[in-house]
Amino acid sequence: MNYCSHCGAPVHLKIPAGDTLPRYVCEACHTVHYQNPKLIVGCIPVWQDRILLCRRAIEPRRGFWTLPAGFMENGETTGQAAKRETYEEARADVEIEAPFALFNLPHISQVYLMFRARMVRPDFAPGEESLDVSLFREAEIPWETIAFRTVRDTLERYFTDRAAGHYQFHFADVGPSDLNAAQAPSARAAPASGATP
Ligand SMILES: [Zn+2]
Repeated sequence: MNYCSHCGAPVHLKIPAGDTLPRYVCEACHTVHYQNPKLIVGCIPVWQDRILLCRRAIEPRRGFWTLPAGFMENGETTGQAAKRETYEEARADVEIEAPFALFNLPHISQVYLMFRARMVRPDFAPGEESLDVSLFREAEIPWETIAFRTVRDTLERYFTDRAAGHYQFHFADVGPSDLNAAQAPSARAAPASGATP
């Protein structure tokens, strides 16, 4: 951030009185611009015994498969965000069932919240950010080309719970070293943006 979004004057990075962390502070109008973690919300869309995955049309990890998820918007609930993202990326209508997994990614100041969701009907199509959308049985999941560690983790935990016959709420911290370890050889060779899970 270079300029104040309130008055347009230059901002300076400094620790405000009574605070403990550096913030962008406007000397002209004295506004403190706080920057806080972003919440990324998505779901596991389920139709019978199959899961809906989207093949990314955008970087990072273009061409890799992911679950529908994206940044939450102001004024919506987490469930609405998951439903909206699923429609935007996969043109699928879902009913949100329950929160399933929460991942902290403090190295990039993001939090991922994934829901379980039921597809209302087996209709879907690629949205703007997807090259392809498809339903997969567990044995058909393209593990070698899953886009992100959080998505792989979510899917693995989902299938484990489903086999056990009951769903838990999963909670984990994901660090940068976990991301590298989780990538398949094919994923490591692909052009990658280091700042995305
Ligand atoms: Zn200002």
